[in-house]
Amino acid sequence: MKKNNINHILRSFEPVHFSASQVELPEAISAALPHLKSAFDAVHRVFLLQQGEEYASDIMEKERNTDEMGEFYRRFQGPWYPVEDYRSYDPQVPDRRRGCSFYPEDLTAAEFHEYVESLEQRGEEGHKLREELESPTTLLGRDSDGLRAIPYHQAYAEEMGEVFEELEKAADILQDGGREELADYLRLRAEALVTGAYREADSRWVELQDAELEVVLGPYEVYSDGLLGRKAMYEGFLLAVDRERSGRLKEIEGHLPALAEFFPKPAGSKGAVGGLAPMIVAWELYNAGEARQPIYPAAFNLPNDSWVRGNVGWKQVMIYNVMQAKFKTATGPIARRLLSDGEEASFEPFFYEVVLHELSHGLGPAYRADGSEVDASLGTYYSILEEAKADTGGLSYLLEHGGKYGIPEFETEEVLRSYLAAQFRSMRFGIQEAHGAANLIEYNWMLDRGGFRREGGRHVIDAEKGRQGIKDLLHELCRLQAEADEQEAGAFIARWARADDELVKIIESLSDLPIDVFLEFEL
Ligand SMILES: [Zn+2]
Repeated sequence: MKKNNINHILRSFEPVHFSASQVELPEAISAALPHLKSAFDAVHRVFLLQQGEEYASDIMEKERNTDEMGEFYRRFQGPWYPVEDYRSYDPQVPDRRRGCSFYPEDLTAAEFHEYVESLEQRGEEGHKLREELESPTTLLGRDSDGLRAIPYHQAYAEEMGEVFEELEKAADILQDGGREELADYLRLRAEALVTGAYREADSRWVELQDAELEVVLGPYEVYSDGLLGRKAMYEGFLLAVDRERSGRLKEIEGHLPALAEFFPKPAGSKGAVGGLAPMIVAWELYNAGEARQPIYPAAFNLPNDSWVRGNVGWKQVMIYNVMQAKFKTATGPIARRLLSDGEEASFEPFFYEVVLHELSHGLGPAYRADGSEVDASLGTYYSILEEAKADTGGLSYLLEHGGKYGIPEFETEEVLRSYLAAQFRSMRFGIQEAHGAANLIEYNWMLDRGGFRREGGRHVIDAEKGRQGIKDLLHELCRLQAEADEQEAGAFIARWARADDELVKIIESLSDLPIDVFLEFEL
């Protein structure tokens, strides 16, 4: 792929400024923010070490420079451009390593797998070492007879000590201000970060539903581990809860059993029985680590620990101000260019599409009639079909059940307009990974069914055909999840996840529009 120039990349993102003063917070809460900020900054330094230990101090140095390169470092948290698979834009620095600093530099995936397999012959002790090596929260090193695991909390003990102290101070202030639940949670979180035992803090976080702040801090997502997809990057989200909007989502949640019924579960498949799955709407006040690197998440669903998910549940957080900023910057201009003259995409239906997408991930077929797990049965095709399922499931709820179950009612055209624009926003980031491929499937399906019609680069929406098309696609995706083998799933994806010349041309024609936002926080 041809290299962009730095200036072009920087101009493709629009800076958006947020100040904590835009959100009304009681004094008891805002007094704790400086300590939380310090804790987040310490976690951010650990993220820099994880990305590439030998570059961390250079990055902190270079991001102070006032030239373009300095701005690039500051915006992307290093010389690596996430949109191009972390290719380096600093001639003095190589591309980001696929395994970042999680593994010895020369370790290959094949060597890792062979080694952990061989450990099974070493009985109980070998099995334990295997678990440590495979843990999302250990670094790997070499010693004389193989690989060893270094727990994150030991590798980053100094920084975690600092985080612990700052979180304790914040907890004291919150406790004095009568926010005991939040204070308790912060103390558990502090403890987790210095001991490496995260389960209790993660569980408490899911249970904590009426706090004014959301504090998510620690190693969570494994997206950055391009070698084995196992090791978690540190990140942090500091958010103020939007109680009014969260309350509206609570109503939807209250109807979850009824909504789950509507989701197709063909061929004798069964859904998963979930525990708690609260949805929170919140405003981001500050971030750290992976969450500070574009392209920023506009929503997340945590924790990933399957024990907590199975025994306690999970929490979904919609980041309202970030979603709104992204929509205004990237989706709005795309809509104006792709839709018929004078048509716009509106934010509210888009917001609920995202909410219902997240909800849909937990619904539909989880187990097949023979008891096997859907994700294991579909191998590498699972995530593509699952993303497409969540999109169409969310859209179906909005189109079929709007006005009921706490779901607001929008006109079909309005929903499909923001859907189309959001699809193109996502396809611009590449059509290789799961979300991109899912979008291609949906877009081609809608063209085929006449829900979208292309007319000279613009799109005409047919409400009735679009609505039926979504419904049919949802059924087909659920059927594939319930009964297809890998070959059939692969053939379906090969047929539908294709970009024809005209689509490639349309995507190219958007290249002058902003890709996304740079978030700037004042705390
Ligand atoms: Zn998703």
